[in-house]
Amino acid sequence: MTKVLFQKGLFEETQGEPALIGSKCGSCGQVLFPVKSVCLNCMSADLESIRLRRDGILYTYTTVYMASEHFPPPYTVGWIELPEGIRIFSQIRGWQENPLKIGMDMRLYIETLWRDEDNEVIGYVFKPVIGET
Ligand SMILES: [Zn+2]
Repeated sequence: MTKVLFQKGLFEETQGEPALIGSKCGSCGQVLFPVKSVCLNCMSADLESIRLRRDGILYTYTTVYMASEHFPPPYTVGWIELPEGIRIFSQIRGWQENPLKIGMDMRLYIETLWRDEDNEVIGYVFKPVIGET
């Protein structure tokens, strides 16, 4: 079984702290995800790669009851709003244990998305943050 990344350059994990990698525009300050070569707001090419914040809030979500190629139903996807002011589309896990509510705190995790005969595909998911102050 080989671990492979869902897509290169989307995230990194340093000292156990996962983070999505985005771009910040040096001209207008816009934050983008995933990494871009040109700012979608002002078209500047003055972009630097930054680690995005790990915690955000649940903006909206939906539960899918039809099978997809890799995910048995039901599974949940949604948009997470980060403090940087951008929204990230992600699979959401942990919702069976902790019912989702719009606006609740969510946290990024790096996990196995699915396995096939040869590979374990690693990607990012968000889960509800429960029981922390
Ligand atoms: Zn810009």
